[in-house]
Amino acid sequence: MAALEKMFDVRGKSVIVTGGASGIGRAYAEIMAENGAKVCIFDIDRDGLARVVAEMTAQGWDVWGQAVDVSDRPAMAAAFDAVAARNGRIDTVFANAGIDPGPGFNTVTGERNPDGAIENIPDEQWDRGIELNLTSVYTTVKNAVRHMKPNGGGEIIVTSSIASMINESIVGTSYMPAKAAVNHFVRHMAMELGAYGIRVNAILPGPFITNIAGGRLRNKADRAAFESQSLIGRIGDVEDIKGLALLLASPAGSFFTGSLIVIDGGSLTRMT
Ligand code: NAD
Repeated sequence: MAALEKMFDVRGKSVIVTGGASGIGRAYAEIMAENGAKVCIFDIDRDGLARVVAEMTAQGWDVWGQAVDVSDRPAMAAAFDAVAARNGRIDTVFANAGIDPGPGFNTVTGERNPDGAIENIPDEQWDRGIELNLTSVYTTVKNAVRHMKPNGGGEIIVTSSIASMINESIVGTSYMPAKAAVNHFVRHMAMELGAYGIRVNAILPGPFITNIAGGRLRNKADRAAFESQSLIGRIGDVEDIKGLALLLASPAGSFFTGSLIVIDGGSLTRMT
């Protein structure tokens, strides 16, 4: 095998991607599956999941899906067990599912949606944002570790955001503190789990065109506002994230753990 191929070899790995029916998670699933991993996508969107799995299996890739809500703890435990039963093990987990909890103060355009003003935020909206963007990451990591420890190791890759580090967001107020907490959780997990051969890292994307926030970054004005912050004049396409995902999940990434890796076309550099 060529040295390059060996370095990025993920063939036969048993992989889970949460929120893999769309956007960044779909890109993670694609890059792993097209390089020979066995990928199970967890997603709440049944129709989207069925469509994406059909498209990927049509490529001849080993991909299947489970319709699961990452905030449903018993369902998550059962879904992890089903992957282990099918593949004999779980090697790599992308804790990726996340949501825009609702309107907030848009620090990029300066837009103030009254529904997103702190005194008007419904408490359930705050709770759901923390549940989906933080607590579900805990649930995902917990189940991953339950299966990885007996196997002697694995890789966990969490999708955080540059919004964890800076007030740069078009999403709701609970998003930023949830992602900031995710970063700290990742670093703490890396400390706890390194001794067991489990590497834990976070990817911090800047703005990427996906379906989050109602696909808002596809709007001309919003897109232009974010493009003006990029150092390379554009915002992210999900294809841009595939190389980093493969690196972190492969032997080439074996010395990364506890890392918070920014991928944003330089937006954070401009803003800090
Ligand atoms: P997306 O909306 O395109 O994809 C998110 C996927 O998660 C969807 O398929 C959705 O159905 C699924 N999902 C939502 N709630 C779920 C639940 N309860 N259980 C299971 N699946 C659920 O969005 P995306 O931009 O690809 O977001 C992926 C991750 O990237 C999120 O954690 C998000 O915070 C993060 N992120 C995105 C950007 C960006 O600009 N797109 C930037 C920084 C971080």
